[in-house]
Amino acid sequence: MKTRISSKILQKLLLNWYEEEKREMPWRNNLDPYRILVSEFMLQQTQVKTVIPYFERWIKSFPTLRKLAQARESIVLKHWEGLGYYSRARNLRKAAQLILQNHSGKVPQSMDEIMKLPGVGRYTAGAVLSIAFGQKVPVLDGNVKRVLSRLFLLKENGSTQQSENILWQTMENLLPEIGTGNFNQAFMELGATVCLPKNPLCLLCPLKHNCKAQKSGQQNLYPPRKQSTPSTKIIVSAGVIILRNKVYIQKRKLGGLMGGLWEFPGGKLESEESPEQCLQREIKEELGIAIKIDEKLMTVKHSYTRFHVTLHVFMCKIQSGKVSPTQCEDFEWVKIAELDTYPFPAANVKIIKSLMKNH
Ligand code: SF4
Repeated sequence: MKTRISSKILQKLLLNWYEEEKREMPWRNNLDPYRILVSEFMLQQTQVKTVIPYFERWIKSFPTLRKLAQARESIVLKHWEGLGYYSRARNLRKAAQLILQNHSGKVPQSMDEIMKLPGVGRYTAGAVLSIAFGQKVPVLDGNVKRVLSRLFLLKENGSTQQSENILWQTMENLLPEIGTGNFNQAFMELGATVCLPKNPLCLLCPLKHNCKAQKSGQQNLYPPRKQSTPSTKIIVSAGVIILRNKVYIQKRKLGGLMGGLWEFPGGKLESEESPEQCLQREIKEELGIAIKIDEKLMTVKHSYTRFHVTLHVFMCKIQSGKVSPTQCEDFEWVKIAELDTYPFPAANVKIIKSLMKNH
């Protein structure tokens, strides 16, 4: 195969470069499999610089797999607050419990076993097995795909299962016999710091003399673009209902989007509805009470992967009825000063910051 001809040279160039240029990361000083597992869960969909403080706080609170397995879910979610994709935190805790029960607390070293853990796909399995255990298995993330595509002018961009398979196979063919963990990390590091999505820094690249895209000046044409789906705009109203100096919060249903996190009640605007009308309707439907809206607290804009949310937030009081929630997992009345001890989605965290500042 074409990629095999230059694989020895690529390995040497890339590993030497990595030795010199790799960035400091707290999970790189200690290859304990539990720490690598935590870092790889956090790094799914999230950049290194965002992950570092979360990782450090996490390891302080849950220094061992056992400590994580025994921690309450709400405490674990609180440590994840702001990182998004909360199912990763729940899966990581569940994985720790399963490792404790079924593998005597040791992260499994076989591909079959590690892939049985919740939240562990082929990428995370490859990263943990190669970095923590030195096994010769590939990784493939967005950075690796981009570098591969440019190096060999591959038209595959991972948009179909077939193109994904070709990229995995290409990466597998390049792996060295030893040092696979560093090789995998070097590939990802090159994509993150040099072979950037726009305007790659080819002059600084250790592979510039071996790269087909660089030689033909086609760096910005590879990997070929995937068809992007436009993100949806959503307008939502939420209410801060105060009763005897406490605020009503509710826990989202488990299993759904951001399940298990807490939130202020409210919902999506229907057509022709004002944010205030929407809030009164939603609260009536969800809690069985009529509310009086006192004042607007703020407008929060927040972007998730596929949604742009505009959230209108109002301070409210109960006008009539008794709170009897029907559409949540749990609810509580909490002092404003204690709100930040509960895990909330990022947009709600902005509301809490404003409440704590102003009350
Ligand atoms: S030479 Fe340029 S395009 Fe090729 S791998 Fe290096 S940075 Fe990427």
